[in-house]
Amino acid sequence: MMSHMYSRYRNTLYVYLTLLVLLPLMIGSCKNSTPTTNKSPLGQRAEYAIVIHGGAGVMDKTKMSADLIARYEAALSAALDVGEGILKKGGTAIDAVEQTIRLMEDDSLFNAGRGAVFASDGHNSLDASIMVGANKDAGAVAGVSIIRHPISAARAVMEQSPHVMMSGAGADSFATMMDLEVVTPSYFYNHGRWNSLQRAKAREAKQLQKEKTAKYGTVGCVALDKYGHIVAGTSTGGMTNKKYDRIGDSPVIGAGTFADDATCGVSATGHGEYFIRHTVARDIAAMMQYGNKTLSEAADYIIHDVLVSAGGDGGVVALDRFGNIAMPFNTSGMYRGYRKPGEQSVQIFK
Ligand code: ASP
Repeated sequence: MMSHMYSRYRNTLYVYLTLLVLLPLMIGSCKNSTPTTNKSPLGQRAEYAIVIHGGAGVMDKTKMSADLIARYEAALSAALDVGEGILKKGGTAIDAVEQTIRLMEDDSLFNAGRGAVFASDGHNSLDASIMVGANKDAGAVAGVSIIRHPISAARAVMEQSPHVMMSGAGADSFATMMDLEVVTPSYFYNHGRWNSLQRAKAREAKQLQKEKTAKYGTVGCVALDKYGHIVAGTSTGGMTNKKYDRIGDSPVIGAGTFADDATCGVSATGHGEYFIRHTVARDIAAMMQYGNKTLSEAADYIIHDVLVSAGGDGGVVALDRFGNIAMPFNTSGMYRGYRKPGEQSVQIFK
């Protein structure tokens, strides 16, 4: 009897002692474990994913002709075809982003490359950036004026120089030295964009503060490849009638572009000054990294709360390490689209 009681007592003691030793270890390991950020609803990574934008702004379905809507949709689909084609064949996210943006830079529908808006002095001055989420490598050019594909110049800065950002004539001559295609400034002439500049100047002469029909036609692309790497890129002509060599958010890493394999990649479009002040692209990734938010929670908060309170118009396209997509914007439209295995979308209006 005594020995039975003793053995029960001994067993209970063992359980207590084991718990005493294991409990602090279990609590400690919970504290130290990496927080699960950007949870995927599927719990697994898409084989690849790509998301693009062609600018945000005031877009009224009743004022756009069916033909123009169809042209934009076709241009977005053609760009996605290029990027998806590369990713499907096992190509890298950086090639997908660069080639997708190059195609959009050649399309005068978008405010990038050939379709760049005019600065106040009647010239075109282009900005672009690219970032690799695997190692945080980044490259950017600002204020280039003779490079046909500024996104490739940004990639060259990243891969062929020790710098992250180059500007103006220096960036033009670096890109030329890197054998990138050079064009005469007249290559960027576009009648519609020229008229927009004249209208902006007329409004300015009448001292009207804010353009009620602002459109931001910048292009951007974020891709996730089958190796789990995320790359983001953005290219723009900036804002119509810009002065004093103004530079917006598009070439600024952390504002218009950001990528990190552990969280997400982001490309922005909108009123650049607000995107710089609020470090939009980086803040979305930071909310995931430090705040355990999902991609859509983070992107929605920054675009619909932070920017709206500040008065900043625009949107972002973003994807996380699982291939989840977010495309929030606070304007009436944003040219946008994405592809991943078994899913595709191209949209313009809200
Ligand atoms: N974000 C660009 C800038 O401020 C403009 C745009 O998105 O179209 O330069």
